[in-house]
Amino acid sequence: MSFLATCRGHAFRVLKQTDFNLDRYANLLKFNMSAVYFSSCPTKGSYEYDLVVIGGGSGGLAAAKEAVSYGKKVAVLDFVIPSPRGTTWGIGGTCVNVGCIPKKLMHQAALLGEAIHDAKAYGWQIPDPEAIKIDWEAIKTAVQNHVKSVNWVTRVMLRDKKVEYINGLGQFKDPNTVVAKLKNGTERVLTTSHVIIAVGGRPNYPNIPGAKEYCITSDDIFSHPTPPGDTLIVGAGYIGLECAGFLKGFGYNATVMVRSVVLRGFDTQMADLITEELKDKGVEFLMKCVPLEVKKLDSGKLQVTWKNIETNKTCSAEFDTVLIATGRRALTDELLLPNAGIKVEENAKINANKETTNVPHIFAVGDVLHGRPELTPVAVQAGKLLAARLYGGATLEMDYDNVATTVFTPLEYGCVGLSEETAISKYTEDKIEVYHAFYKPTEFFIPQRNPSRCYLKVICLRNSPRTILGMHFIGPNAGEVIQGYAAAMKCNITFDQLESTVGIHPTLSEEFTRVVITKRSGLDPTPQSCCS
Ligand code: FAD
Repeated sequence: MSFLATCRGHAFRVLKQTDFNLDRYANLLKFNMSAVYFSSCPTKGSYEYDLVVIGGGSGGLAAAKEAVSYGKKVAVLDFVIPSPRGTTWGIGGTCVNVGCIPKKLMHQAALLGEAIHDAKAYGWQIPDPEAIKIDWEAIKTAVQNHVKSVNWVTRVMLRDKKVEYINGLGQFKDPNTVVAKLKNGTERVLTTSHVIIAVGGRPNYPNIPGAKEYCITSDDIFSHPTPPGDTLIVGAGYIGLECAGFLKGFGYNATVMVRSVVLRGFDTQMADLITEELKDKGVEFLMKCVPLEVKKLDSGKLQVTWKNIETNKTCSAEFDTVLIATGRRALTDELLLPNAGIKVEENAKINANKETTNVPHIFAVGDVLHGRPELTPVAVQAGKLLAARLYGGATLEMDYDNVATTVFTPLEYGCVGLSEETAISKYTEDKIEVYHAFYKPTEFFIPQRNPSRCYLKVICLRNSPRTILGMHFIGPNAGEVIQGYAAAMKCNITFDQLESTVGIHPTLSEEFTRVVITKRSGLDPTPQSCCS
């Protein structure tokens, strides 16, 4: 008899002996198994594993690797439920397979397309840049080959570090028992002292006819079997805009359908500039619109009907591909969380204090956490720090404030800290100063690229030493520019310090050290020359 069955049997015998009505208490027992279990079972040393991690993505793998470095016995369960279009992938989670990495590679491919045009102006003899076209099959295969190589390296790394990888869907049987449902229909039962939930999320679908049948999401686009062609992107968060950006860069028509605002949660002024820049590049926007239906025509095209929510007017058009990018939902339904007594929020996420759920030996990291940034480095850092606290005697906690991020649209947008509107609502307009500047990247002059949305701003307190609250940058390599300033913000950089920093010339990043004009002054923030 398994250890668990012994415990359960013991718990039931106790209840029977005291003449309890089992039916009446069955429900109670299900939810309070944790308490009975702990009081009636041997100590945690007798579980099979020290740690079972459910989810082998950014957060789960980071936690597992850290835990084994303290000599712990760790298993990682990872399982990908195929997308409605049948797409599936290997170990490593969203970032590696269908997120940051394939996205950045496709973004890079699109930037290279632009660079070919620039190169001619720089003297490269390119016969006819207009005749140069993307080969979808080639870029898709190159991206997928890279993804598969990362999957393989990850599996080798797990084996070397002696993390047990189980390709199964994890579900709670009770607070210390996780069942892995394997592809061949069998199950593995794992008992464990600790569990880390790192299941991430998957794209939402609108509840409209044809959505799941005919539309794709970011889960499918990076391995799409045929060129996407004329594409409608439903949703204007960063994933939607990034997809629109690289698809347009590849030469496909891209239309973005926006229900409310573009880049919700980001600084509004910067989001508007990014929208304008995308429009300039040829991306179309359907503002204040929601899809009603997607139909497949005999021609193979998709006919989309939508409604403008302001005018109530209904329109329709045909597209080759419809990509849904309307947010993501945490994968908690599949976990059978009530069996472990874990509470979830209405949005299916888990509320945790210092990554600890309401059940003290069960933790959560990454996108599954309520109210935390959905970013790979956040999941990695939280997972690593949590394992170091659990097993290494460390005390350092995850700091979710001032996490930098970048939107990889053709002209990138990087930021760290507060948006201008959040700073105003938190401190009032009187107490903050916004320094801003448009600038002209040196690289733009010869090919005569349009620099009109190359813009940055620094939001700080008005009182000396003018502590910086937020930094925002639109321009090439925005992520590279903003990362160093994120470290400076961790050290509480002030505007006094920023303006006494000597820049590196000629770089984009130096523009932050040259900014002198405040919004309050009303002066023109357009640059007169590159070097003054
Ligand atoms: P995930 O990486 O999603 O891993 C969770 C894993 O658990 C998955 O493999 C899942 O299949 C598995 N799983 C789920 N349920 C179970 C279960 N019951 N049993 C077993 N396994 C299960 N972030 C950035 O920082 N920079 C970017 O540029 C960026 N770009 C992105 C672009 C796109 C298109 C997308 C979709 C995301 C992007 N992200 C980016 C976000 C980033 O990918 C996530 O924040 C990160 O992957 C979250 O890590 P995680 O460990 O929480 O979950």
